[in-house]
Amino acid sequence: MDEFALIRRFFDRPIDDASIRLGIGDDAALINPEPGRELLCAVDTIVAGTHYPQDLPPFDVGYRSVAINLSDIAAMGGRPRWMTLALTIPDADTGWLSLFAEGLFTAATQAHISLIGGDTTRGETTVISIQLMGDVDPHKVMRRSGASPGDGIYVTGTPGDAAAGLSFLKSGSDQSDESEYLIGRFVRPTARVDFAESVAANASAAIDLSDGLYADLQKLLQASDAGANLDLNLLPLSAEILAKFDYDDAVNFALGGGDDYELCFAASRSDDAEIHSLAKQNHVRITCIGKVVSGDGITCRRDGEIFEYTDPGYRHF
Ligand code: ADP
Ligand code: MG
Repeated sequence: MDEFALIRRFFDRPIDDASIRLGIGDDAALINPEPGRELLCAVDTIVAGTHYPQDLPPFDVGYRSVAINLSDIAAMGGRPRWMTLALTIPDADTGWLSLFAEGLFTAATQAHISLIGGDTTRGETTVISIQLMGDVDPHKVMRRSGASPGDGIYVTGTPGDAAAGLSFLKSGSDQSDESEYLIGRFVRPTARVDFAESVAANASAAIDLSDGLYADLQKLLQASDAGANLDLNLLPLSAEILAKFDYDDAVNFALGGGDDYELCFAASRSDDAEIHSLAKQNHVRITCIGKVVSGDGITCRRDGEIFEYTDPGYRHF
């Protein structure tokens, strides 16, 4: 099958979005963003065998490659709208491509985004690069900078689950409901797009969790020129991770595991009630795990005692 037949068969689907004047088929896509909103652009690349196991079912590869991009736009307070796909594959395996495309369009449909172009190349390893564009109200952009001493540090969901799930995917040894759940958090992360957009007016700074809570919070703090005190006893750990791992390992997954695509943000403590009510409206679990302080670095406490955290090195880049 030639490249054009492949694109037509698997990726060129009807688009119902008035903002797209030209999608797949020309030299470039032509989009018409809403007046008054600004454009957000982000790109993420995943390599088979490096960022996900080679034998991950193709539907899951397609779904996940879209899902992991959404949180970057969410973390800026924007709405994901349009994406392009640069796909490198070793061969035109139509079985793989058809399931990959099903997964990709399932995630895209759920997120109300359209595939408007891309590039298809042959290479030794499967490499999936998705560029996601979104739009944002310029007055409600969240950035990594802006957190100030006294702000609370909030996190959505239960970080650590995805990395714990990946450990089961790699070992393939556990068949329980809990490990299924944790694997699901790796394969089908849920970016907090609606909640992030609604909390943007309250948040002083935000970041999405792709490298792990500790490392990503560190980036937010550096950009904000501040430090943080974290109370590890407040870390939201899922029932599933606690059923499968001892407490210390669960804490390590939560701080050091990546791939959660949850939202971490800082906000004035005086907005706490409003933030919790926004979370409730959006069916998102939210936890305040500490506060921003002056200085730099993250000081963790567990049972009131200083806890020296060392990075377990789960990250694959
Ligand atoms: P060009 O030679 O101008 O780069 P291509 O021949 O690579 O264009 O692609 C033809 C059309 O198909 C373009 O509109 C491009 O955006 C689109 N396209 C190519 N690969 C993909 C893909 N994997 N997914 C979606 N659209 C694609
Ligand atoms: Mg061309």
